[in-house]
Amino acid sequence: MSDHTRVLIAEDDPVSREIMVRLLERNGYDVVTASDGADAVAMAGPEIDVALVDWMMPGVDGVEVCRHIKSQTRGAGYVIMVTSRTEKSDIVHALESGADDYMTKPVDHAELLARVKAGERIARRERELAQARDEARSEAERDGLTGLSSRRCFDRELLSRTHDAIARGTLALLMIDLDHFKEINDTHGHQAGDEVLRQVASVVRSETRAGVDVVARYGGEEIAVIAPQTSAFCARELAERIRKQVAAHRVVAGAQFISVTVSVGVGMLDDRTEDAPAAAQSLVEDADVRLYQAKHAGRNRIAA
Ligand code: GH3
Ligand code: MG
Ligand code: MG
Ligand code: MG
Repeated sequence: MSDHTRVLIAEDDPVSREIMVRLLERNGYDVVTASDGADAVAMAGPEIDVALVDWMMPGVDGVEVCRHIKSQTRGAGYVIMVTSRTEKSDIVHALESGADDYMTKPVDHAELLARVKAGERIARRERELAQARDEARSEAERDGLTGLSSRRCFDRELLSRTHDAIARGTLALLMIDLDHFKEINDTHGHQAGDEVLRQVASVVRSETRAGVDVVARYGGEEIAVIAPQTSAFCARELAERIRKQVAAHRVVAGAQFISVTVSVGVGMLDDRTEDAPAAAQSLVEDADVRLYQAKHAGRNRIAA
């Protein structure tokens, strides 16, 4: 993407349009033009920083164009309404319909440049804020160590998949816990332990269906798999496959080779209850009870 600020000029009068284009281009702006409202709507993309929008245009008017730019840029595009209407009520209407600023015709060049410059500053700041918001959101969705879904994401997804399964279908939940992980930390160090967790996470991910199953870090050394539209038989097979693959995997951590096993509890949704939160909770409990059984029976095994 270019570093230049991109300005959209929507103006149906070719002479006024050309004057503004030249003025802005001379001052280093990337300019795109639209000769009527429909054209402006078509050109309004997320890359627009500042838009100069003539209010009176045939077909789609400036107010409509302004709304469209705001939605395309998630509010970051700065819209300056250019109008020959000078009534206070018109100006109020322009600002209320989402314009950030307005100018009356005929436009003064120095003033136009100053206002575009102010808009440019605000558009940049809005964009940075939106980006920071997106990053914070995706951080909250992912676990930093393993790259799996976060616990928060798990809770939300479990509830929504439970709703779906109650309406139609089945739902399985696998609770996977590393066996004697404390010993691994004690023997090989915490950093090697982290590497073990990362690699087990990637084994689990490779055994599941991308885009269908949700693989999350449930707690410290516990990984949960939400498997929609999965029968008890298939869930059992999935658990067994994961268990085998982890046991066969040699974790390379620095100069060390570490073997690790997992125990897996398989829970199935009881869809006789219509209450999704309660059903989701008892699904977790069900998987937890099975996990405990697998541990108790000697670890490196599944219980379903
Ligand atoms: P069990 O087979 O009964 O599950 O034994 P365990 O040792 O795995 O279980 P325990 O609950 O006693 O210990 C879990 C350990 O997992 C203790 C904790 O330090 C370690 N752990 C939790 N999160 C992390 C992590 O992010 N990195 C590392 N390296 N260790 C972690
Ligand atoms: Mg006009
Ligand atoms: Mg453990
Ligand atoms: Mg544990």
